Amino acid sequence: MCGIIGYVGGREAYPILVKGLHRLEYRGYDSAGVALCNSIGELNIYKAKGRVSDLEDFCKSKDTVGTMGIAHTRWATHGEPSNVNAHPHYSESENLALIHNGIIENYAVLKEQLLQKGYHFQSSTDTEVLVQLIEYVKELNHVDLCTAIQLALGQVVGAYAIAVIEKGNPDMMIAARKSSPLVLGIGRDEFFIASDASPIIEYTNRVIFLEDEEIAIVRRHEQPKIVTIGNVEKTREIIQLEMSLGQLEKGGYPHFMLKEIFEQPRTLRDCMRGRVNVECNNVVLSGIIDNKERFVNAKRIIILACGTSWHAGLIGEYLFEEFCRIPVEVEYSSEFRYRNPLIYPDDVVIAVSQSGETADTLAAIELAKESGAFVYGICNVVGASIPRNTHSGSYTHVGPEIGVASTKAFTAQLLVLSMMALCIAREKKTLDEKRFLKLLIELDAIPAKIESILGNNDLIQNLSNTFTYAHNFIYLGRGYNYPVALEGALKLKEISYIHAEGYPAAEMKHGPIALIDSEMPVVAIATDNGMYEKVISNIQEIKARNGRVIAVVSENDTVVKGIADYVIEVPVTEDCFDPLLTTIPLQLLSYHIAVNKRRDVDMPRNLAKSVTVE
Ligand code: GLU
Repeated sequence: MCGIIGYVGGREAYPILVKGLHRLEYRGYDSAGVALCNSIGELNIYKAKGRVSDLEDFCKSKDTVGTMGIAHTRWATHGEPSNVNAHPHYSESENLALIHNGIIENYAVLKEQLLQKGYHFQSSTDTEVLVQLIEYVKELNHVDLCTAIQLALGQVVGAYAIAVIEKGNPDMMIAARKSSPLVLGIGRDEFFIASDASPIIEYTNRVIFLEDEEIAIVRRHEQPKIVTIGNVEKTREIIQLEMSLGQLEKGGYPHFMLKEIFEQPRTLRDCMRGRVNVECNNVVLSGIIDNKERFVNAKRIIILACGTSWHAGLIGEYLFEEFCRIPVEVEYSSEFRYRNPLIYPDDVVIAVSQSGETADTLAAIELAKESGAFVYGICNVVGASIPRNTHSGSYTHVGPEIGVASTKAFTAQLLVLSMMALCIAREKKTLDEKRFLKLLIELDAIPAKIESILGNNDLIQNLSNTFTYAHNFIYLGRGYNYPVALEGALKLKEISYIHAEGYPAAEMKHGPIALIDSEMPVVAIATDNGMYEKVISNIQEIKARNGRVIAVVSENDTVVKGIADYVIEVPVTEDCFDPLLTTIPLQLLSYHIAVNKRRDVDMPRNLAKSVTVE
């Protein structure tokens, strides 16, 4: 959500900043802007509502000279998307320019105080209040910019990642963060700051992840200095990232989403590498092994997540209860954090997030830690806030996911949860060895089975043509496939903007069946598992009311093929791993429908990749 990029060094900043904004586009945004400082210390700010390309068009006739600058893509929280609300924001005297990701919660009180002091506001954002406050504090106390930022941030309630530059000071950029991510890139006599490493990686892989309430003072030709808001100097380790630029590009696919769907056989193999070993009949997740007492003795597991990760969590619940015999609750982080939940020291809390920056999940983690629970993170982005703020965890290791609608990160979350369940079950001795080995062999075979499903892409694309103009969809599944139905419906909503609902198939009779008529496509997951016969009955009920059924079936199916209007086959697997397969055709169906509707598949409207505000 929103992107920040800043540069100080020997090169012209503008091209680096604009390229960086393009690399951050995947996070979702509604406007963009840039502030440049030239060698004599003059500041220029340019902003535009819409795409980064709109900003580039606007800047064509402008003076974009300067070897220092900051740039931003905004995802509006306070004030509509508009040129004036776009960042950077000037302070009253236009001496300071600031960009901000996050929310200043007490902005209204601060704004009122500043208005009384004679300050004027151009925008309706909370961000402009912060830059005015910094200037006010600076002038009042006759202090330098860094001290003013420390004093101002001391008064602020909320979340922020900010970058500030100052007129007359072409050599210094200051950045700070609290609850919103910020990374500092250290090149050869040049420095970068950004929301994540994707816009930096082509220049340097040496980075420092700023911690909460830390401020980076980045001066030309000097090593960056890191201090806290309370002015304690910090020594921070430089991390070498292993992300390649190639990983960030589309690799010949028309959209990142399609590339990421097709990457899944490889990403799941990557995720299993060094963890699943069929020859040795073993699953090793170091985060579990190192903390096995916590898992073996857990009275309860609480899974915290939002959106697609929450669907992964629901499947986790089925896995942990079936194999580890530990009761599980799956919670939306945003509800959990505000409802005074009961958390005990012998609870294990598992926080699931692709970005590792989901604001609500981070807040819920803090709550769980305060109550003494052991907190385990499942996250994709290496070095993100969740892995840094949990006791232990597992990465999904699928590389950067750029498409806003999650695909490969979801299946890898399912895989990590499956490996965790097997690993804990072995430690708890709740699964007999023969079954363990059978499950392991089956897990190992999943990537090849996904490859065969991807071979049906043309068939699914043809099918999508029939349903592109539907106004509603229902997705049904039972058992392990119930959360897959929820995820299938979410995917369709996210990228095609078609209204879709996911239901446990048996719940149909308790309401949604009223919606069924010849106009209503129903996607039913009817694979050959313990729920097969039951789902067939549910499909019959839909057909009896003229609904149009697209069924996801097992390759050996004969019955559903005779009832449903269309079928998509997937290979047979164990019930518990079915979601890893049945999800794939639903991803492809959503993708092709969205493409047919000419939607912006990788950057659907109103959505952000990494939800860093609550
Ligand atoms: N709250 C700020 C605004 O609405 C920043 C939003 C963002 O993170 O992009 O302008």
